Amino acid sequence: MDEAQSVIIDGEKVAIAETFEVIDPARGEPFARCPAATPAHLDAAVAAARRAFPAWAAASLDERAERLNRIADAVEADKEALAVLLSSEQGKPRASALGEIGAAIGWMRATAALRPPVEVIQDDDKLRIEVHRKPLGVVASITPWNHPVLIATWHIMPALMAGNCVVVKPSSFTPLSTLRLVELANAHLPPGVLNSVTGEGGLGRAMTGHPGIDKVVFTGSTPTGRNIMSNAANTLKRLTLELGGNDAAIVLPDADVDAIAPVIFAKSFGNSGQTCAALKRLYVHESLHDALAEKLAALARAARVGPASDPESQFGPLQNKAQFDLVRELADDARAQGGKFLAGGAANGEKGYFFPLTVVTEVSDGMRIVDEEQFGPILPIIRYSDVEDALARANASENGLGGSIWSSDIKRAEALARRLDCGTAWVNDHSSISPAAPFGGAKQSGIGVEFGHWGLEEYMQVQTVRIAR
Ligand code: NAD
Repeated sequence: MDEAQSVIIDGEKVAIAETFEVIDPARGEPFARCPAATPAHLDAAVAAARRAFPAWAAASLDERAERLNRIADAVEADKEALAVLLSSEQGKPRASALGEIGAAIGWMRATAALRPPVEVIQDDDKLRIEVHRKPLGVVASITPWNHPVLIATWHIMPALMAGNCVVVKPSSFTPLSTLRLVELANAHLPPGVLNSVTGEGGLGRAMTGHPGIDKVVFTGSTPTGRNIMSNAANTLKRLTLELGGNDAAIVLPDADVDAIAPVIFAKSFGNSGQTCAALKRLYVHESLHDALAEKLAALARAARVGPASDPESQFGPLQNKAQFDLVRELADDARAQGGKFLAGGAANGEKGYFFPLTVVTEVSDGMRIVDEEQFGPILPIIRYSDVEDALARANASENGLGGSIWSSDIKRAEALARRLDCGTAWVNDHSSISPAAPFGGAKQSGIGVEFGHWGLEEYMQVQTVRIAR
């Protein structure tokens, strides 16, 4: 079994005797062991980060940017091996793993190009007022299991670019690729600037209450986000919370079914639906409902779901047993309530956490498959007749990560998209993101944003400097 990955504290690999199993989701069996850090390791990591902070914060932006670019080069050089690790623990096909790593590299370089602004508010013979931004100190990053390399990159790189030091804790379901990423990065960073800890149970909780940590950036479920917020309150930590989504899409009667079907399919089922801003509820006007549902079902039936070891696989398994069980439960509930499965609908009993790409119609709001974040490969299609009613139903969710409108009338679609209660609204697209545009959740989908200068500034303290003349 693979035991090659170590946590890195203060620039050194730390030998930890205690380990836990990492499961291969394609087989449902352990394939590697991961070090189980103790609270003492966490204390050591935070102390190392605190020691490294003054020099790192004082380094010029250009120096920090150069190091980020060197890390991007190192990840590029290692991407094949990193992709194997990512596929093994996450389950995604090799091409998807390489895609995730490629996106991470692009994000590193884009983040290295960011510069926090210095604003001059007033400058006259009496007074000059400048607004500066300073790093916060030590940032704790806590990541989920769906896109471990990319999401760790989204946390770590802007935090470092802003001049902070970082302790990252990946999900215990997918810890190994993050440990490798941190090891690659450490070759280009001063000791203590970027540290990793891995473990099960209470390690994340210990981070969010730790007095030596100034900010927590968290991507994961809404219940965990609430937990973190309350645990971080005593030390008044800064928080960025990227939480769950249950994104709605509304297809207007004038949409071009042939053109949109493959895009909707890709945006619903990418990463086997395990993407926070995946398209999760599809409201289709009754005039197009049957035609679009059948096209999507045909694409789902033709898709190849299989292990990463098979080069023909286009979609992998669910990442873990709990997620697999939830998806099955939601499919069974939809069936019991009269849902009609045009594709998929049940696991075929083979080894691993495989669930077929599933399209279900004759479902509506009030059913679990529509109301709950499913985070899996099921697309519920809801028939509607009145656009205002569809918009109201799309907005009736407690989540508000993303939403989309699909139409040939761009002006009308844009006007409707802007009425969606969510952090990102798309027209004739869904879930696409860019390093320069802010991304974050409305309502219970989060607090704060990532990416671009907005994201960088989340890792900085505003300081007003008033100079009396
Ligand atoms: P999760 O909330 O179960 O776990 C996320 C991380 O938090 C893991 O590292 C876990 O170990 C840690 N954790 C668990 N309990 C904790 C606690 N009390 N204190 C501190 N840390 C704790 O989420 P998950 O199941 O790994 O990921 C799936 C969820 O993530 C979905 O809800 C999905 O929508 C969301 N997500 C959101 C975004 C976004 O950008 N908004 C992106 C990806 C995933």
